[in-house]
Amino acid sequence: MRRLLVVTILLGFFAVQPASGQLLGYEVIHGDSSPANRFNIILLGDAWMKEQMAEYRQVCKNLVQGLLTESPFFEYSHCFRILRLDVASRDNQVSYEGEPRRDTAFGITIGVDPATARPNGILWFPREYSLRVQYLNRVDYVLNCVPTAKTFNLVVVVANTDHIAGTAVYNGIAVVTRNSRVQPQVFCHEVGHAMAQLEEEYTGNSCPPSSEPWQANATLDAGSNRFRPKWAHWMGTQGVSTFLGGMGCSYGVLRPANDCMMNTTKPNVVAASGIFEPNIVPFCAVCRERIVQRLYDAVVPIESAVPSGSVTLRPFERAPTFKVTTVEGPRSELAVVWRLTQEGFFSNSYEYLSTTRVLKTAVGKTYELALPFSLSSGFTYRLECFVSDETPLVRKWPVPYRSTPADYRTYTKDWTIRVNNR
Ligand SMILES: [Zn+2]
Repeated sequence: MRRLLVVTILLGFFAVQPASGQLLGYEVIHGDSSPANRFNIILLGDAWMKEQMAEYRQVCKNLVQGLLTESPFFEYSHCFRILRLDVASRDNQVSYEGEPRRDTAFGITIGVDPATARPNGILWFPREYSLRVQYLNRVDYVLNCVPTAKTFNLVVVVANTDHIAGTAVYNGIAVVTRNSRVQPQVFCHEVGHAMAQLEEEYTGNSCPPSSEPWQANATLDAGSNRFRPKWAHWMGTQGVSTFLGGMGCSYGVLRPANDCMMNTTKPNVVAASGIFEPNIVPFCAVCRERIVQRLYDAVVPIESAVPSGSVTLRPFERAPTFKVTTVEGPRSELAVVWRLTQEGFFSNSYEYLSTTRVLKTAVGKTYELALPFSLSSGFTYRLECFVSDETPLVRKWPVPYRSTPADYRTYTKDWTIRVNNR
């Protein structure tokens, strides 16, 4: 009888405990319901048990709030969509290398330095190849369970551990911990790596690389790089110069700022009053610029346009109102310029027109143009709408991009307007 009771209790326990990797729910915690034309970040939890989900949701909320408070995420928060997936783990707390593996959703493991037997700050999928593949397949499986999770730019695993650690790979995935003493700094830092391919700006015992690093915020201490580094367009402003050390090396590499989010992640301070004081070193100008550039690899500032195709008019018929809807926030305003060109013999004659009306929308603004005159019969015209981000956060857009004026990233919507003969 007692044995039966134990079996029943055990069965009951396993019946309510979901298997590790099971999706319990999901929620868009920032941005629109659709992932289209946004920078999509997906948060996944590892080593959170079903009964800890409320805590996990709060940790995710704090991380996202912290990220979107930091420049340049702050200015461009409207370009982000952040989706949180609630995934169950049987065990609470992640695994430590060299210790028995815990039963968690994605097998996140804290590296242990064999020499000192102390955690080394590296937080990642298991080192063993077959296990790593198994857990990465699990990430893939969970993302495939949610229709709008298939479109993503970055996956961040939020590991349930108080250990201070974080790791990221360029262009894809990062792992951070719940530790509130160093968040959101570590989260911002890892997003800097994973989203914008930024290098470490801290110094250490690593050897400098043998060839020029391709990352925006590191360069070899060689040639004329001390005086004309790749960030020469920022030199002398906002504390940007060339400082010795970076990429974990104390020599042979130069970094753009004395200090930066990619260099220092100081723990937060709790003052004597008990009030939490964030201790954040902001991103330097060079890193901020790179983040904004990478954002525009995912987000096009022209969200939609009306009419969608070319327009044919009868003689003396008024052209419809042309509309361009932008992705635009209150802290990152766009410049909109319209140009009308008559094609054919006088193709060089064009005129700039002003937006007739601006309407606020859920995603940005709609710029309307009603032509103030009738177009001549028998001619074909080209109407262009140039939308540029002239943010001071970016001084040099990558080439090649069509630009008007030079060096600003400009997107264009154009229409052909034909006016029939009488
Ligand atoms: Zn930096």
